[in-house]
Amino acid sequence: MNINQLIDVDHKHVWHPYTSMVNPLPVYPVDRAEACTIYLKDGRELTDGMSSWWAAVHGYNHPVLNAAVQKQMKSMSHIMFGGLTHEPAVELASRLIELTPSSLQKVFFCDSGSVAVEVAMKMALQYWIAQGKSEKSKFATIRSGYHGDTWNAMSVCDPETGMHHIFSKALPVHFFADQPRCRFGESDIQTGIDAIHAILKKHQSEIAAVILEPIVQGAGGMWFYSADYLRELRTLCTRYNVLLIADEIATGFGRTGKLFACEHAGIEPDIMCLGKAITGGYMSFAATLATSQLAETISNGQPGVFMHGPTFMGNPLACAVANASIDLLLKSGWQEQVQHIEAELLKGLSVCKQLSNVKDVRCLGAIGVVELEQPVDMAIVQKRFVELGVWVRPFGRNVYLMPPFIIRDDELNKLCAAVYQVIKEEGVK
Ligand code: PMP
Repeated sequence: MNINQLIDVDHKHVWHPYTSMVNPLPVYPVDRAEACTIYLKDGRELTDGMSSWWAAVHGYNHPVLNAAVQKQMKSMSHIMFGGLTHEPAVELASRLIELTPSSLQKVFFCDSGSVAVEVAMKMALQYWIAQGKSEKSKFATIRSGYHGDTWNAMSVCDPETGMHHIFSKALPVHFFADQPRCRFGESDIQTGIDAIHAILKKHQSEIAAVILEPIVQGAGGMWFYSADYLRELRTLCTRYNVLLIADEIATGFGRTGKLFACEHAGIEPDIMCLGKAITGGYMSFAATLATSQLAETISNGQPGVFMHGPTFMGNPLACAVANASIDLLLKSGWQEQVQHIEAELLKGLSVCKQLSNVKDVRCLGAIGVVELEQPVDMAIVQKRFVELGVWVRPFGRNVYLMPPFIIRDDELNKLCAAVYQVIKEEGVK
């Protein structure tokens, strides 16, 4: 298929994330990707600033990860997990238990981040049902959150920027506290914490769990909030007998400068969702971790089992590449890499503050965000980034970079320079 045919068939038949089938934005056919470069079919080369949405922390086409997949394929690519088990899954569970907060001891493998969130929410409900408290069936969360596109995940996404208004007649209604406005590194959390405190105090008998993204709110606003808020929220959840679900799907595996963002606050959630970078971006896979107490309560209640079990649960290929990716990460000196990226992003993006259409610039770990006063024009901006030889995909008012951890300084400089250039052009439009 030549490039034009490919694009033509794609436009006619293939749905892309959040796109129209009538008036789709352009898509760029990719030939291959290696390290931090995406090679387009038309010969252009793009420096990757997205890590394929937080996932490809080691860059693309990594020989160690390729070898792990190939080795696993020779024994089995998949085997059902009902009644059977295998080394890649057991080894991965052991690694995750070792690396995450010590109270998390039970691992449920699933297919994607959204499903990990569904599983976490079902776990929370079943925990209370098992104790005869089925009235604890609501969730509380903070505004500007994002937890995925499936039904219940969608119901705890931000009610304005998420999909509530379209699906509102069908979605369960939960409690939303105002977004914590206290920035990461600051400690004036009172207004923010009062809002969620009031909800927990009033509705504790109806609330099963609080669910939120620890420290970094991703797709709902790219906002970094105070670790003190998270710490205080943990205390409140315990006080009001409400579980705490930490959605670490985007933040996990080093992205924020800690292996898991909960570590910034030194807290342990009751349930933790992991995904995205768990396989180094090789394939869709996720895990929901829970405390022993939670798992035992569910298992000692009726019907005595946790009610979930997807076809591809514990997929051996995904587990094998996840094991290899985690080992690679731990050996890589990721902490220095991420610290260095943070310093470079801060240096490279701070110049954007001078532009009149820029509201805020913030960096944490390997995440750099330039928040604009107005939403960007995606059609124009995306094209310009490609012309400048970088892959940057903004949304709404946020232009952001979250490159693979292995990125070189010259590549980072190129990304930051392109962000500055495109935002400057947006400003004079
Ligand atoms: N939670 C968070 C915090 C996410 O960022 C995402 C994906 N952007 C999800 C859940 C959903 O993950 P997936 O797209 O793999 O279903």
